[in-house]
Amino acid sequence: MSGGWAESDRRSELPDNWYTELRPFVLQRDAYRCRWDEDGYVCGHHANQVDHIVPGNDHRPQNLQALCRHHHAIKSSREGNAARWRETARRPPERHPGLIGP
Ligand SMILES: [Zn+2]
Repeated sequence: MSGGWAESDRRSELPDNWYTELRPFVLQRDAYRCRWDEDGYVCGHHANQVDHIVPGNDHRPQNLQALCRHHHAIKSSREGNAARWRETARRPPERHPGLIGP
């Protein structure tokens, strides 16, 4: 799949059953249709992405929605920019990920 820092950052926050249960559940519930709603116009394209409506660690199905690749990319980049602002404000200097051991 596509890489990108935003996606790889987020993956560590996903629960263990994300790929086995939550993700397929939401895609089926939403009938594999993109639920992106812009001013009352719902996209409705084939969806193969699952998005957090409110970004964070709320992985309940009511906070999840199916999105097409296009709209998921738009939403992720918006959230990514916001997250980057928050992170730079509060984070101490970077540690190399490879140095964080058990
Ligand atoms: Zn869409």
